[in-house]
Amino acid sequence: MPHPTAPRRAVAICLALGGFMLGGTTPAPAAGPTAVERIVAAALADSSAFALLTDLCATAGPRLNGSEGQRRAVDWALRRLREGGLAGVRAEPVMVPHWVRGRETCTLLEPFAQHLTMLGLGGSVGTPPEGLEAEVLAVRDFDELEARAAEAVGRLVLFDPPWEGYGKTVQYRSRGAVAAARHGAVGCLIRSVTGSSQDTPHTGIMRYDRGDTIPRIPAAALSVADAALLTRLARRGLPVRVRLAMGATQLPDVPSANVIADLPGRELPDEFVLAGAHLDSWDVGCGAHDDGAGCAIVMEAAFLLKRLGLAPRRTLRVVLFADEEMTQQGGRAYARDHAAELPRHRAALECDSGGFAPAGFTVQADSATVARFAALAAPLAPLGADAVTPGGGGVDISFLAEAGVPLIGHRVHGEHYFDVHHSPADTLEKVDPADLQRNVAAVAALLWSIAEAP
Ligand SMILES: [Zn+2]
Repeated sequence: MPHPTAPRRAVAICLALGGFMLGGTTPAPAAGPTAVERIVAAALADSSAFALLTDLCATAGPRLNGSEGQRRAVDWALRRLREGGLAGVRAEPVMVPHWVRGRETCTLLEPFAQHLTMLGLGGSVGTPPEGLEAEVLAVRDFDELEARAAEAVGRLVLFDPPWEGYGKTVQYRSRGAVAAARHGAVGCLIRSVTGSSQDTPHTGIMRYDRGDTIPRIPAAALSVADAALLTRLARRGLPVRVRLAMGATQLPDVPSANVIADLPGRELPDEFVLAGAHLDSWDVGCGAHDDGAGCAIVMEAAFLLKRLGLAPRRTLRVVLFADEEMTQQGGRAYARDHAAELPRHRAALECDSGGFAPAGFTVQADSATVARFAALAAPLAPLGADAVTPGGGGVDISFLAEAGVPLIGHRVHGEHYFDVHHSPADTLEKVDPADLQRNVAAVAALLWSIAEAP
């Protein structure tokens, strides 16, 4: 690692003399910077989070469930967590779905021939090997589909809704194929779930009807530009014919793992503060923001405390979850396998919003806990990370809510997150090293304060 070790040792010695390791000899406030100030200063003087993220992306590449990249990522994480000096580094087995994209194309045939920019949706079935050809029914939303249901039979239904934010617009990706198939469509196309793209297609998980009474039809995302093209042509009353060919297949589940490591607590080692992110990604780009950045932030937060010689009162546990993108088997497995420990989880924080400039935290807990965490985040104002509002923690840690674990979501200024999310554009150069480091500062400081609290 490209960091001089001498200044760090000096800081660690200062802290030891300052009373953190002398069992209750509290230093006078004027004696020097607080631990949080030291953590923030050390994080901002550093650049190791971006180096770590670069190493992940270069070693593993994209990390789709069941892929070679995903296996390399698990090995990489085990090695880096051990090198970072954490304890109990281990891979806890998780079975995950294994969907393979295969070759895929989408071609406009009429009113003129043109290649369309597409990505199949995760979990989709494939088409026959020769592809399927059909006329496109372009609709704005579910309401328009219902109104024109009779026209959907034998067609490829295109949903081209306006971007109304991820939470709202993603329903066309999740449920579009079922809605279209219910009315006899042979395939489903959606406008990529993004507010802005330069012809990038954005994938993501889709779902079929569980009852299996509605046929499973292939589903793919078009770039915003190509969805708009088809809509424009259809509105002119032209016949719009498309050939969609997808080699997608669902294979049997495969073994994967949650990767776990601890920075042991010095007084209450059996109490935990969990810091999580997900190690899997989609198979395009390299998942730099989603969620390589989150992995780098939580790993570096733990490494930073370790390097500073700061052993928290409670154990800080890093968990890199498997399978966030498809069926969240990693989050479910952690909640199941660690059920006995969950009453001793004082908080769980998840970083899965990208590596943009920090904006604060959301907290899913009772109002007293929200207020307590807000007070602990107050010193992060210089980083812009002191805003604490009630809100969800994150997909992987959501399974801990039932056990009463307070959940914390890491927030960033993610105005451009969905420009790259789940697309070939989610690559390293979209991540700002200084922003990433500010996130390490904010997350490490908050984790420390919670792990240290009386
Ligand atoms: Zn994610």
